[in-house]
Amino acid sequence: MEAFVIPDARERLNEAVDALVGESIDGVSTHALGEDLIDLRLAIDRLEAEFVRRLHRFHSGRGAQSDGGGTTVSWLRRCCGITAKAAAYHVHLARTLGELPAALDSARAGRASFSNVTMIAHLAEDVGVEQVAPLESILVGAAETLRPGAMRTLTQATRLRLDPDGVLADDNRVHERRWFECEQTYGGVFVLRGELDAEGGALVKTAVDALSHGMSRGETRLASQRRADALVDLAATQLRCGDHRDVHGQRPHLTVTVSADTLRSCADGTPAELSGVGPIHPETARRIACDAVRTVMTVAPPTDGAGWTAIRPRVMPLSVGRATRTIPPHLRTALRLRDQGCRFPGCDRPPGWTDGHHIIHWADGGPTELDNLVSLCRPHHRRVHEQGWRIHIADGIAVVEPPPRRTSATGSGSDRHIWGNELTSIARYLSAT
Ligand SMILES: [Zn+2]
Ligand SMILES: [Zn+2]
Repeated sequence: MEAFVIPDARERLNEAVDALVGESIDGVSTHALGEDLIDLRLAIDRLEAEFVRRLHRFHSGRGAQSDGGGTTVSWLRRCCGITAKAAAYHVHLARTLGELPAALDSARAGRASFSNVTMIAHLAEDVGVEQVAPLESILVGAAETLRPGAMRTLTQATRLRLDPDGVLADDNRVHERRWFECEQTYGGVFVLRGELDAEGGALVKTAVDALSHGMSRGETRLASQRRADALVDLAATQLRCGDHRDVHGQRPHLTVTVSADTLRSCADGTPAELSGVGPIHPETARRIACDAVRTVMTVAPPTDGAGWTAIRPRVMPLSVGRATRTIPPHLRTALRLRDQGCRFPGCDRPPGWTDGHHIIHWADGGPTELDNLVSLCRPHHRRVHEQGWRIHIADGIAVVEPPPRRTSATGSGSDRHIWGNELTSIARYLSAT
């Protein structure tokens, strides 16, 4: 028997597709396009189901072997131009749905979406077709009425009922496969990658969602930026408030090493260094130093006397002061009480998410007193330091000004010449350490 039993079905299908792809959609309203998309999706779903029906016959009739040899998967790759993974997936579906004709018929007729029907196929793969066959009519009825999310819940619940041990074994396998990496790239940024089991992933997502919900009016961050900030806030809060074992005799924390000159002038001087990261911009060091534990150390200057070569200098500590908070606990309590959260206009992040910002930095002689302090959440504290916004308090209200427009910051020829000299000495220093 020839394929496409209806004599000109193949031509008519091609003609219909040709007509569609030849149509101009310029000037078509989005409403009409929406209708088109619904019709196209339905047609694609029905064709997918028909593809699977024919593939089932082809596979069980050993079509690939009689057409050049090899497996059905390799035949699909060669003749249908799909990847091995997609080919194997289709063969799986064909095998399973070939045994569940009512489910396949429903998708072919366009009553159930193809994705809902594939969920029935996955269930059958997990627990065996013989377990699903007695339930097929109920599952097909559900596939014809439920949205994909609800259909997934139904098939998961069915699997749990039919094969609880299998579900538990799968859960344990997924749990064993969990992994997470937080790697710094050459450019200095961190890339996070990983895979969590369902419960772990849901916990992380719930915490990140709770912290990244649009808390402030006039929010300008993208949702993805808010999630990234939420993850950093989670880590910061955990380090600040969590119950941790000491590492090297101290609670886990980040250390910034910076000279008093760099903190003050924000220009030359030795670069600030963040532990585990490397050199950081002086303004970032100033932000971190605004509200931190400070240990003042007096050191003898580097013996080689070179400027920039003082990255991780081999200095001789002469005296070490006690570790003290730059904002003592009693002032921090008062600051929290007064500000009740971030004071940046339009922001209402709560006190627990804020740093105390010195309006005139303590390194520049600004007093650590309530009048010189203001609570800022991390994104807004960053905006003031690294992004150059100015903030002051007028009549008890925080007033902010955007940064002045910058003129070109391109270094002059002589700047580049000086930097060239410094670069050479850094390279020499690093090769000697
Ligand atoms: Zn600050
Ligand atoms: Zn804020």
